[in-house]
Amino acid sequence: MEIIFLGTSAGLPTKERNTQATVLSLEPLLNEFWLFDAGEAVQHQILQTRIKLGKLRRVFITHMHGDHLFGLPGLLSSRSFQGGENKPLTLYGPAGIKAFIETTLKLSESRLNYPLEIVEVEDAAVFKEDDITIKVHLLAHGIPSYGYRLELPASQGRLLQDKLEKEGIMPGPIYRDFKMHDTVEYEGKVYRAQDYRAEAVPGKILTFFGDTMPNSNEDLLAEQADVMVHESTYLEGDHLLSHQYHHSHIADVVSLAERSQVKLTLINHVSNRYHQQDVTALSEVIRAEHPDFNFRIAHDFMTVKID
Ligand SMILES: [Zn+2]
Ligand SMILES: [Zn+2]
Repeated sequence: MEIIFLGTSAGLPTKERNTQATVLSLEPLLNEFWLFDAGEAVQHQILQTRIKLGKLRRVFITHMHGDHLFGLPGLLSSRSFQGGENKPLTLYGPAGIKAFIETTLKLSESRLNYPLEIVEVEDAAVFKEDDITIKVHLLAHGIPSYGYRLELPASQGRLLQDKLEKEGIMPGPIYRDFKMHDTVEYEGKVYRAQDYRAEAVPGKILTFFGDTMPNSNEDLLAEQADVMVHESTYLEGDHLLSHQYHHSHIADVVSLAERSQVKLTLINHVSNRYHQQDVTALSEVIRAEHPDFNFRIAHDFMTVKID
C-alpha cells in the first residue's frame, strides 16, 4: 500500500504545491485507489502519476472549502473518458456535497457513464467496505469538516511449516486447507488449523484529517494510528493565531500524535508563506525539539509506502 500526495498547500496553490488531494493505493489488499479531497487541478496531478481513474473507487471530501473541492467536478467528468465506464464510484462528503455535484453536472450538461453514489456523512458515522471499517468524526473548522479513520482487516498469520512437518504433513495442496479452513482432516486425523498458523497480523489504522483546530474528536481519529495524515498550516510562530483561523499549529499536531501514540505523522496543508527551503529548515527545528515525533512534511508527489 502507499499514500501519494497530489496537493499539499493550504488555501491557495503555489508554484511548488497544488491544493489538497491525497491518494491511498490499496494494492495488494484491493486493486483500487481511494482519494481524500480533490482540490483544483487534481486531475492534472493524477496525469503525472500511474493512477488510473478507472481504478479510483472511493472519494472522501473532508469539507466544502474550495481548496479541497474545486477539482471534483472535472475529475468526475474526466473519469467517464479515462477508463471509468460502468465502474461504480462512491463519494463521501459533508451535507451539501450532493447538491454541489448534481447542480454542477446538471448546469454544465455533463453526463457520467458510470454509477455515482453520493453519501453525505455525519459525526460518528461508520461504514464497512471490503472489510475496511471507515469511521467518521466531526472536527472544528468553522464549517463542518470531517476526518476519516480507516481500520484495515487483520491478515492471517503465516503457516508454521516446521510444526506441520513434525506431524508428518509435508508441503502440498493440503497446506491450502490449513490456510483456508478452521479444521482440516488429514489421513483420518482432524487438526485445528489455527494451531498451525502464526498469530494474525493486526490490520493497519490509517487516518486522514480535514482542516481543523484542536478538538476532542481528534483523539478518536488518531488513537493508535499507524499513519496519520494531518494538516499543519502553521509550522512555527504564534500558536494561538492558528486557532483564530480554525487551523492547527505544529505544536498541536505533535501533542495529538504523542498522546494518541501515532506511529507516523504525515503533515500536509502547509501555508503558502513557506517555500520548500523553509519547510526543510523548519523540519530540522521540529526534529530537534521533538526527537520522538516520527513525521514527514509532505510535498506534492511524495509517496509513502506502508508495509
Ligand atoms: Zn484547506
Ligand atoms: Zn478549510
